[in-house]
Amino acid sequence: MLRRALRVLLTFVMIASAAVVGTVATAGTAYADGCYTWNRTLSQGSTGEDVRQLQIRVSGYPAYGAVLALDGVYGPATAAAVTRFQQAYGLSADGIAGQQTFGKIYDLQDNDCTPVHFTWGELNRCNSDWSGGQVSAAQARANALVNMWKLEALRHALGDRAIVTSSGFRSVSCNNAAGGSPTSRHMYGDAIDLVGTPSFCQLAQRARYHGFNEILGPGYPGHNDHVHLGNRSSRYWSAPNCGI
Ligand SMILES: [Zn+2]
Repeated sequence: MLRRALRVLLTFVMIASAAVVGTVATAGTAYADGCYTWNRTLSQGSTGEDVRQLQIRVSGYPAYGAVLALDGVYGPATAAAVTRFQQAYGLSADGIAGQQTFGKIYDLQDNDCTPVHFTWGELNRCNSDWSGGQVSAAQARANALVNMWKLEALRHALGDRAIVTSSGFRSVSCNNAAGGSPTSRHMYGDAIDLVGTPSFCQLAQRARYHGFNEILGPGYPGHNDHVHLGNRSSRYWSAPNCGI
């Protein structure tokens, strides 16, 4: 018993020493996020994968009716999106992505890369591996992730009220079972259905500012009990009961 207690104590001392040594050894090391870490300040003219990673996370902040290109090129639209993101979170709004902006993004992302208020599971109630859609599983997941960042922006704009999803990615068979359109964007991972509060019209109206070019809601056939948000090649908005 005593021997065991001593061993436990010794182990604790060793861990504590290691922690102290570790702290000393890593002092001054840059912050490392569990999902993705930026290593330089980005501004207009920057290009690269780190720009594209930033674009994904500010994709919910394009102009009204616009969709931010995820092309890895930091142009005026990206700078404007970063500015809107900064304004939304009370940061100094200069359109340049530095430590403050990245810090806010780190606060907003989980280690599995989803924004804090959304989960992979919520965006896929069909299967566990994202297979069987109209794009590869990897592409469907990537599309869903972009949508989650748009939803995070929408949620924040609506006063940080919880947003409830009822459907996201659907394989072809899940889409058939749900009676979805044969061209449904759900099969690409880039559509979501919302239910609950805020009201359907609040959701549909506000979504116009957050990068969704497919919005279907009250008054559109089959959409009186949810709001459908998605992406397609050109804008299609219809929620006549909400003035859309
Ligand atoms: Zn839908």
